[in-house]
Amino acid sequence: MKLSLHINNNLLIAHTLQSNKFSDSAYEKDVDAFKDKAWEISQPAYNVIVGRSLHPNQYDSKQLLYLSSFFERIQESDEFNVLLRQTENYKTLCKTEWEANYEYCYKYLTQKIGIPFKDDSFTCYITHPGLCHGKSIGNNEFMFGHAADWPNYSTVYFWHEILHSYFGESDLEHALIEFITDEEMRARLNNISYPDYVGHKNLTEIKDKILGKWKKFLKSDKWSNVFEFRDYLLSKGLK
Ligand SMILES: [Zn+2]
Repeated sequence: MKLSLHINNNLLIAHTLQSNKFSDSAYEKDVDAFKDKAWEISQPAYNVIVGRSLHPNQYDSKQLLYLSSFFERIQESDEFNVLLRQTENYKTLCKTEWEANYEYCYKYLTQKIGIPFKDDSFTCYITHPGLCHGKSIGNNEFMFGHAADWPNYSTVYFWHEILHSYFGESDLEHALIEFITDEEMRARLNNISYPDYVGHKNLTEIKDKILGKWKKFLKSDKWSNVFEFRDYLLSKGLK
């Protein structure tokens, strides 16, 4: 299993312009300065990128053609380069943490949970650490950027996004991904216990329903992997 971390400058620019929620408010000043700069370079380009439809002219081919030079100009600005350096430092921290935890997590996921990683490789596009981002985009790729709310945060969420490639999209499967990573992996790495969930609030109800069975899955050898366990939950009418 291989994970490579990348920064795509235009994705970093677009995601930052589109974000209003901070995971670390210490970056607010730098992000605001960057947004002001982008606004100064081109208001129509800014509006198209953040998805604001304010005027029919903003979709004229001339304006849309200007988008690529907008990305070039903003990349040259000092304001962008401050954010880029912060994102590069964050990427280095994530890589160091990932490598330090890799063997322990890999062993837990393959031996205890039964995830068939084989030779699969994954790509993560890192976005700014002061904002909130975490999304699997298929094809073994995902995007991520978020301040560490607790120790080993990026490791746990990288594995969370990776596991999306092995599960379907139902709430039950998402709840299982959260039990495997957000809860059990976090508990193992940080020596804590749950239920004091950290995942999506909309999954709390289904997680409460399967918590007892999940704990049983971890202790028993009745199921040879988590996919058999999922089928057992489905046979009990959970979904
Ligand atoms: Zn998820």
